[in-house]
Amino acid sequence: MINVAIDGPSGAGKSTIARKIAAALGYVYVDTGAMYRAIGVHVMRNGLHTDNREEVCSVLDNAIITIGYVDGEQHVFLNDDDVSTDIRLPAASMAASNVSAIPEVRQHLFNLQQDIAKNNNCIMDGRDIGTVVLPNAQVKIFLTASAEVRTKRRYDELKAKGTPVDFDVLLAEIQQRDYNDSHRDVAPLKQAEDAILLDCSEMDIEQTSAAILRIIGEKI
Ligand code: C5P
Repeated sequence: MINVAIDGPSGAGKSTIARKIAAALGYVYVDTGAMYRAIGVHVMRNGLHTDNREEVCSVLDNAIITIGYVDGEQHVFLNDDDVSTDIRLPAASMAASNVSAIPEVRQHLFNLQQDIAKNNNCIMDGRDIGTVVLPNAQVKIFLTASAEVRTKRRYDELKAKGTPVDFDVLLAEIQQRDYNDSHRDVAPLKQAEDAILLDCSEMDIEQTSAAILRIIGEKI
């Protein structure tokens, strides 16, 4: 199977780009952030603290995460409940960042992620795909952009949806998540040694997708 790993910080555009590329190549798109978000939602629904390892672990066995595809779009199910909308709520972002620092949570999702990659040509995006989940992926890309550019993109996206947002609050949140993701002990966000670095601060979606398709074409 052909596996393409795309890692990078929050808001770099990984999911938009990965979804587009997967559709172009006929590969399955796997958004691993959505899985961490689903665990975060699960912990919150149980009224527990997402940053408390013991509390999170106490409900982990009751969290059966599955992914399915509806019209080619990935949907995430938490114990058969489609949580694809809930996982995009702002509270779910920080919850995901918190639970993702817990080793048991990572282990819980690791097998699911590896299984999908074993059975499908896929584009998988996340933070540790090239370093931990799929170290043998044929193509690894580290997609990044400046924190300000990433905040501006998220800001425009939320505004377009009519969600009230404050730029500075959003920037602080993105910086906090960058810090959390890159400083945790387990599977921190970092570029794999054999990954290609792509900074898309000055590129739009079309240009970024084209650049990644070119890299994939060269590698495979
Ligand atoms: O990619 P997304 O922003 O949806 O991910 C939400 C959170 O899940 C990230 O901030 C990160 O903490 C965590 N995550 C992770 N490893 C992955 C994917 C996401 O730790 N492979």
